[in-house]
Amino acid sequence: MIHPQQKTLLQVDVKELKGKPGAQDTLSRTVPAPADFATVLVGVPEASDLDLDLRLESVHEGVLLSGTASAEVVGECGRCLDPLSYPLTVDVMQLFTWDANPGEDEGDDTSVVSDDLTVDVEPVLRDLMVSALPFQPVCRENCPGLCSQCGFRMEDDPEHAHEQLDPRWAALSGLAAELNNAQDDGDLPEEGRKSPSP
Ligand SMILES: [Zn+2]
Ligand SMILES: [Zn+2]
Repeated sequence: MIHPQQKTLLQVDVKELKGKPGAQDTLSRTVPAPADFATVLVGVPEASDLDLDLRLESVHEGVLLSGTASAEVVGECGRCLDPLSYPLTVDVMQLFTWDANPGEDEGDDTSVVSDDLTVDVEPVLRDLMVSALPFQPVCRENCPGLCSQCGFRMEDDPEHAHEQLDPRWAALSGLAAELNNAQDDGDLPEEGRKSPSP
């Protein structure tokens, strides 16, 4: 759908704002989310709705981008692997300077208006969204996860546990089984468990 010549939907023309401090433009639209708005377990699916409610304001040094961006985060619980999803909204506040070398040290957080007088909103949104994603997403705060021994969903039965057999008892029960077998072998051939019919 995107014309090959067209830049991405997140590159915004700011020609009209150049040299007009105070002038404003809005960027209110829903665009398909770009790739890689994600971490390992969760993220905004590519091409899903990314809702922008942004404002571009011409200021002396450049263009100030502010507002919010929202999307649905989808992924899986890091404990029980259940699918999860929730809405995420991030606050955006980013200055794009007209000049690549403002002379003064502006820190690493500044972006620059490109030579063709557009600003690329995508990396700004990606940084904000990705840093707002949990490193260890959980379906809920106290998700009990899976049994470490068999993978059972602990939520289905909080009592689930594995009997920890003392090795000494295990040896004894093995011995008992052997004795039983020996007895059975003596009295009954093969199916020792058949009880006599009344
Ligand atoms: Zn979970
Ligand atoms: Zn288990």
